[in-house]
Amino acid sequence: MFQRPASFWEENRSLGSYDILIVGAGMVGLWTAWHLQRLAKGLKIGVVDQLPSGQAGASTRNAGFACFGSPTELLDDLHRENRSDIVERLSWRYQGLQSWRETFGEDALGWVPGRGFEIFSTHQSEAWQNVQSNLDSLNQLAAESGIPGEVYQKSIPPIPSLIGCISIEHEAGLHAGKAHQTLKAAVEEHGAHILQGIEVPPMASWSKEENAWAIPTTQGVLKAHRIILASNAWSGHILDRKDILPGRGQVLLTDPIDHLPYAGTYHADEGYLYFRNVGNRLLLGGGRNAFRSQEETLSGETTVNVQAHLESYLHEVLLPGFEVKVSDRWAGTMAFSPDGSKMPLLESTDGITLIARMGGMGVALSPEAGRKAAQLALEV
Ligand SMILES: Cc1cc2nc3c(=O)[nH]c(=O)nc-3n(C[C@H](O)[C@H](O)[C@H](O)COP(=O)(O)OP(=O)(O)OC[C@H]3O[C@@H](n4cnc5c(N)ncnc54)[C@H](O)[C@@H]3O)c2cc1C
Repeated sequence: MFQRPASFWEENRSLGSYDILIVGAGMVGLWTAWHLQRLAKGLKIGVVDQLPSGQAGASTRNAGFACFGSPTELLDDLHRENRSDIVERLSWRYQGLQSWRETFGEDALGWVPGRGFEIFSTHQSEAWQNVQSNLDSLNQLAAESGIPGEVYQKSIPPIPSLIGCISIEHEAGLHAGKAHQTLKAAVEEHGAHILQGIEVPPMASWSKEENAWAIPTTQGVLKAHRIILASNAWSGHILDRKDILPGRGQVLLTDPIDHLPYAGTYHADEGYLYFRNVGNRLLLGGGRNAFRSQEETLSGETTVNVQAHLESYLHEVLLPGFEVKVSDRWAGTMAFSPDGSKMPLLESTDGITLIARMGGMGVALSPEAGRKAAQLALEV
């Protein structure tokens, strides 16, 4: 990107004065603005993002799964976390997916109705047995979370070399770029100012003047009575905190494939691998768990080793015997906790509300995360 050092004039001017300034124009920041506009009409809201218009850290770079939880991932969560947290999160995700559709309609989101699936390959016979014997309790967990019907059901594997498959009702695909664009337009239409290409510096350089925060940036000073940090992976850097870790996610997209045997959104390996069809192309992502420390980064570049890991899964497990060419690769940045908890972080102090740690299902979480951040910011 073309960048120059700031001039004195650029730095020393007012860039805007707001009742509430949201840092981060990803799905969470934008849903937060959307809820604020309805909870407290007439507020002057600014949303600032360091990236150029139309881009976000993860929200425009994800895989477009409208999903709430695959069987092996939920069983793994049950080993690590309180059941009540898992139920709460599942319900946020399910409600979040309803909010996207009810608010904007399927066309505006590039929604692809269908079902989700989890597949099991030959080396996963133990996991496959475990899921089959826990199907009733998984459906019970979904029911407790307000998700209707028999959500998890045994299904026929899409290719004969896979040993098992579970279908997941109510999951679907969407076009992440379109969904983000639609949400952004709705928030702008209701009067929020969206400022792109402006980096908010670490909080140590902010000051408080007459009950309002003043944030110096290279393009001028931003002022606001309240700040909502929806900067997800970058929040640890802004606040100098070690409990918000960045996690890069990488994906690849193939050229069109004749007779592609997959239609829908697919999970594998406790959610660490995921793939879906995009027309007759296959989008595959994940593999972060095999390169954990390397992928704990804010860098948005793809790497040779993760891409090779994905390609070998593509050729050996998903499409053995198929002629497949990869045409696109990209990466985005999520945020995680150091202890593996997947509960988003929501807290408020001194006029600053933090909503962060959206991991791999932030699309579904974002409407409810935004609602809760907006409510908390207005309370304090
Ligand atoms: C490859 C990949 C695949 C994924 N697939 C899926 C999927 O299929 N389904 C799903 O539900 N989830 C998926 N996710 C996760 C999902 O995309 C994220 O959880 C979600 O987008 C997080 O939204 P957010 O608004 O919190 O973060 P972001 O979209 O990252 O938005 C935060 C914004 O804050 C801005 N910001 C940060 N610091 C500053 C600063 N100092 N100054 C100004 N701006 C700042 C950033 O530029 C960024 O745009 C995936 C993620 C990745 C990376």
